[in-house]
This record gives sequence, structure tokens and C-alpha cells, in this order.
Amino acid sequence: MVDEVKVGLGRTGWLHAFQAEGLEPDVVTFGKGLGGGLPLSAVVGPAEVLDVMPAFAIQTTAGNPVCASAGRAVLRTILEDDLAAVVRRRGDVFAAGLRELANLPALIGDVRGRGLAIGVDLVRDRGTREPARAETAKVVYRAFELGVVLFYVGLRSNVLELTPPLTLSDNEIREALEVLDRALSDVEAGRVPDEVVAPFAGW
Ligand SMILES: *Cc1c(COP(=O)(O)O)cnc(C)c1O
Repeated sequence: MVDEVKVGLGRTGWLHAFQAEGLEPDVVTFGKGLGGGLPLSAVVGPAEVLDVMPAFAIQTTAGNPVCASAGRAVLRTILEDDLAAVVRRRGDVFAAGLRELANLPALIGDVRGRGLAIGVDLVRDRGTREPARAETAKVVYRAFELGVVLFYVGLRSNVLELTPPLTLSDNEIREALEVLDRALSDVEAGRVPDEVVAPFAGW
């Protein structure tokens, strides 16, 4: 079973993220972008699996025709516009921009990912790779103030998650890189005090 909810439908530069792994899943799940903003998720699999529970299709909101129609339009657009190929190119541009930044801000320990699913590790020291947990929260906060919304994730809360809309333009990538560069410099220079992120601790 493969969960494509977050990384599927073009985000990695492949139509399905599992294609990059050479997998042939029996069951695949989809969600998030599938409805283009409307609530929609899907499970795709063989009848012998999905038909085991006869009442499975009659949950409260399942089978909504408006959402299903939006999902079909999203899928058509992804295929007709070959969005996976577009994402592959934009992801390369974005990651290259981040790697260029990585030469300057000491906080950046690693830039990785596929397509427009990008993770940036923030570390206190590139040698020891000590996670820069507090600094990561501050970078996210400062970027938000400057107009870029990101998340931080990871077991040590020190990874910036960049999962922008697949339709992100090259100009928006440039803007995001400028904001990130500024947010990183502000945090490194101690211009973002502990107090501003304290109310969000534990989120
Ligand atoms: C968001 C997410 C889910 C949950 O999807 P829902 O439609 O909110 O149930 C499942 N798997 C992954 C990987 C996700 O990112």
C-alpha cells in the first residue's frame, strides 16, 4: 500500500511518487491537491480488496459529485499540462537556488527532495550537524512575516518543509529565495528574539 496523499499527483516531478522507486503498489491513496481545494480523497485498488467491505462507499461525505468533478478536472489538468515535467524543472530551479544560498548561510546543513517536495536541514554546526531546532522555528516565523509560509518538520524539528503549489512561477521561486535568504540572515544575526516564537512552542 502506498500513501501518495502528500507527494503524489506530480509533486515529485513524477505523476506518482512511487514511480521513482520502481514500485508496483496494490493499493494507492490520494488526497490533498486531488480536489484542487475542495475536500476529496481516494483509494485506488483491485476490486478483490476494495469490495471486501460492502458498506465502505456510504460514509457521510463520500461520493460528493461536486468534489468528484473537481478531482476529475485536477487530474485532467495534471495530465494535459504535463505538470509532472513542469514540476521537475521548477523543483530543479528551486533546489539549485537553495543550494546557492547554502554556500552563505551557515545554518543550512542540507538541501534535499524531489520536484517540489523539498527539505532544508538547519544545523548549528555543519561538522557536528547539531540540529538548529530553535533557529528553525525562528526562520519559519521570520519568513511568515516577510510573506512566505513554510512549515518545519522532522524528528528534531529542524527541517524546513517546502511544498508549494505545483503552479509556482519562476518569479515566485525567486521571491521565496529572497525571503528565505533574508529570514536566515536575520536569525543568524540574532535579530529574531526568543519571545516572538515562544507563544507557538509545542505546536
Ligand atoms: C495529510 C496526509 C494524510 C491525511 O490525509 P487526510 O485526507 O487528511 O486524511 C495522509 N497521509 C499523508 C502522507 C499526508 O500528508
